[in-house]
Amino acid sequence: MRNRQATRLLSELSRAGRRGAEFPASDVPEWPLEDLLPASALADASPHLPELAEPDVVRHFVNLSTLNMSVDTHFYPLGSCTMKYNPKRHERLAGLPGIVDVHPHQTAGNIQGLLELLAEKQQMLAEISGLPAVSLQPAAGAHGELTALYVAAAYFRDKGESRKKVIFPASAHGTNPASAAMAGFECVELKGTEGGFVDLEELRRHVDNQTAVFMVTNPNTLGLFEKDIAAIAEIVHAAGGLVYIDGANMNAIMGITRPGDFGGDMMHYNVHKTFTGPHGAGGPGSGPICVRDFLADFLPGPVVRQRPGDDRRFELATPAKSIGRVRSFFGNVGILIRGYCYLRTLGAAGVRSAAEQAILNANYLKSLLADVLPSAHGEYCLHEFVASAEGLAKERGINAMDIAKRLLDYGFHPPTVYFPLVVPHAMMFEPTETESKATLDAFSDAIHKIVAEDAELLHTAPHNLPVSRPEEVNATRKPVLTWACCKD
Ligand SMILES: *Cc1c(COP(=O)(O)O)cnc(C)c1O
Repeated sequence: MRNRQATRLLSELSRAGRRGAEFPASDVPEWPLEDLLPASALADASPHLPELAEPDVVRHFVNLSTLNMSVDTHFYPLGSCTMKYNPKRHERLAGLPGIVDVHPHQTAGNIQGLLELLAEKQQMLAEISGLPAVSLQPAAGAHGELTALYVAAAYFRDKGESRKKVIFPASAHGTNPASAAMAGFECVELKGTEGGFVDLEELRRHVDNQTAVFMVTNPNTLGLFEKDIAAIAEIVHAAGGLVYIDGANMNAIMGITRPGDFGGDMMHYNVHKTFTGPHGAGGPGSGPICVRDFLADFLPGPVVRQRPGDDRRFELATPAKSIGRVRSFFGNVGILIRGYCYLRTLGAAGVRSAAEQAILNANYLKSLLADVLPSAHGEYCLHEFVASAEGLAKERGINAMDIAKRLLDYGFHPPTVYFPLVVPHAMMFEPTETESKATLDAFSDAIHKIVAEDAELLHTAPHNLPVSRPEEVNATRKPVLTWACCKD
């Protein structure tokens, strides 16, 4: 059993009298507490604090940290999340004193180096997206979606139009409808084609003069490039609507094609996915948005720009009709800088090559798994693919969750399961470009071994972890985060 010791709480490891430090005897007179505080402010008993020696505490936390799977410890092919390796050099650069010691209230004249770096970052994001105006403020992808939808609402309000509808394909990430609803729009879901694409006829039926935005991920959540994207944009634009590109899948197309070139008016990046940065455990993230020129005035401020008439000085400015701030200061600067280092390290040619390698790795893994986990959509994929465990479920009673849980025993993080909803028993694999052929081969071997195992063994997996199968819904909705000691 791996690290059972680590799952015992500090309170359970506590032994009366153990200490991590010895304090010298006090050399000032001790006052009775009653003389210092009114009786009503005094507790009846001392708090239950665990008593441990320093090595006990260090071992506890270090062992706990090894229970997590992470990109640094395991292959992590979680589809739609781009869990690529984060180079440690970028951590060191983002931690330089000139960056971490800057106080956000310093004046612009005082932080010219940092502003220049952020201005360059804005330029890089504009260039990769083909959309010229950038706000670095949003704190994650979903926040970028929400911000862009506020920008769209402000744009239509400014034109005197009150468009209500936001349309998205059924395969959309859950954050798309959530952002649209939060921004006050009505959500309309489109059924896709058999092949997993946007259905142009269906789109034409729903797009009208009430359509504010069509949101689409390209490549879509099935890992397929929407081949009709130009026609899609034409339909939406002809009705006066805007096209929003959910940029979570930019890892497949960066340096190859650009949302601004295939009809997008707005998009967000997930810097923590595409351009590295720690991803997972709720952040920190970074979801900058890029928009066309005619939307630039509505972006949240401040944006960084060159001071007019002095191309060596930078300043912070608020766009003329700005929707206001969506986050304090200029965004999650630490993540933006890790992404900046990543882009500088790769250079333009390297960015394209990373995307191509990600596509190659996904197609290689897809072909390795095809005999046991076939994909319903397309012979080739982009950076990820959605396989289905439906056949295994019917023939052997093994489902996607069983395989996912058993993979943990083999030392692999599972793929995304049961998403997108349009594929029954979905298993969504995104290996990323940072994995070697040897890792992909080992992963495929593990899957092949697993599907040949006894079904009962799989239903009760994982077997080698301190916690096997928590009740997923209750563990999320009603987590028990306190220890029972507090009751006595
Ligand atoms: C991850 C993801 C999002 C949300 O991004 P966060 O940074 O997690 O808020 C939106 N859309 C797609 C397709 C994604 O994969």
